[in-house]
Amino acid sequence: MHATIETLKNDVLARNAGEPEFHQAVVEVLDSLAPVLETHPEYLDQDVIRRLCEPERQVIFRVPWIDSKGNVNINRGYRVEFNSALGPYKGGLRFHPTVNLGIVKFLGFEQTFKNSLTGLPIGGGKGGSDFDPHGRSDRDIMAFCQSFMTELYRHIGEYTDVPAGDIGVGTREIGYMFGQYKRITNRFESGVLTGKGLSWGGSLVRPEATGYGTIFFAREMLATQGEDFDGKRVSVSGSGNVAIYAIEKAQELGAVVVTASDSKGSIYDPDGIDLDLLKQIKLKERGRISEYADRRSNRVEFHENRNDVWQVPVDVALPCATQNELDVHAAQTLINNGLRVVAEGANMPLTADAASLMRETEGVLFGPAKAVNAGGVATSALEMQQNASRDRWTFDYTETRLEEIMVDVHETCRATAQEYGAPSDYVLGANIAGVTKVVDAMIAQGLV
Ligand code: NDP
Repeated sequence: MHATIETLKNDVLARNAGEPEFHQAVVEVLDSLAPVLETHPEYLDQDVIRRLCEPERQVIFRVPWIDSKGNVNINRGYRVEFNSALGPYKGGLRFHPTVNLGIVKFLGFEQTFKNSLTGLPIGGGKGGSDFDPHGRSDRDIMAFCQSFMTELYRHIGEYTDVPAGDIGVGTREIGYMFGQYKRITNRFESGVLTGKGLSWGGSLVRPEATGYGTIFFAREMLATQGEDFDGKRVSVSGSGNVAIYAIEKAQELGAVVVTASDSKGSIYDPDGIDLDLLKQIKLKERGRISEYADRRSNRVEFHENRNDVWQVPVDVALPCATQNELDVHAAQTLINNGLRVVAEGANMPLTADAASLMRETEGVLFGPAKAVNAGGVATSALEMQQNASRDRWTFDYTETRLEEIMVDVHETCRATAQEYGAPSDYVLGANIAGVTKVVDAMIAQGLV
């Protein structure tokens, strides 16, 4: 291992104590860089790798709001503006009780390289709050979003920082935040947020983009083995934005998707998921996945353990729920059951051990999140393009752009991995390709 990388890793870990998710993300990226530094010692100029691990700005703020029962609530808001070497900070907002600074930093760090891989001019950032939207009324959600934006507005802007959705933040929440931003600033600045509704600056395909992009990437992985999705059995975790549209596109390509989950359990549907029913329950009614088993057929199994999705024998596994949801035991079970491809629809859903095992296993291809789920942010950048040109693209045109970008991201990862002597190591390829572009720009822009 390169001595400088070891020193850097230790320094970054000590400097960011108590942030295990951030450590996990940094270690994985830095471990990939040793071969690059052997051939490109200039990548140590201006201490650029250390700067890469230090966010440019971190904002933490109080979010006070009154709920519909008249109670005062105090939440904590975050925006970590990680890196602007390639463009304005860009990355989602997450509303979930587990959100803390370490999680937002891990997501912002990963976002920087993901955005770089898309080839589009966007820097990296991430934000959110420990607010729990579950069981809250529309009125509560609006009150929270308005208070959150009353502070966030001063840090964002079309040319500065452009947030989007993530876990717990969809079109409804983006709408309430956009409305508040417009009211405070007296500007219809559509390029300040992405994931907007169609009639007020949103882009077709944005809701589908992360899930569809995940499938386009996995399709390219299968193609390297002379295979495709037709007839493949697929397990998916989660039943939110990413999971639902991954299921939709996989089914379109002929796959049989047999699982889905939420934070309260999982389902196994041997006949293939009924997507209309799943959408009705999770997107429209905002209900629980257990209701799917109640309403579908006797053959569907509901399990209280949400991680039981990994017990089912499948060709392709798509973790699309949250970080560290697939551990080394689940990974071993999947491999023993004949897994061929695992592609991360969610951010860092495999634990470090599970990811290592997948990378080391002959005959299994492992696609890391920063490449696989880049279609979401790529389509956000396409939304920004449409906003800037006051234009509106068709569904087909936008989906074709997304597909081209995902094919390109796949080829970039594959070709880079091959250049460094590990042709099927997508983690190595994604990290090296994502990082070097950012580092080149940082060196060119000097010590800032
Ligand atoms: P959503 O809030 O739409 O959905 C998240 C889903 O995961 C929900 O069904 C939730 O269940 C479920 N879930 C949460 N924790 C667990 C768990 N431990 N086990 C099983 N299910 C769980 O979020 P998204 O679909 O937008 O995001 C999912 C992942 O994809 C995240 O890692 C996010 O960062 C990543 N991502 C999202 C992008 C996007 O465009 N939305 C872009 C790139 C990455 P419940 O319904 O009970 O809450």
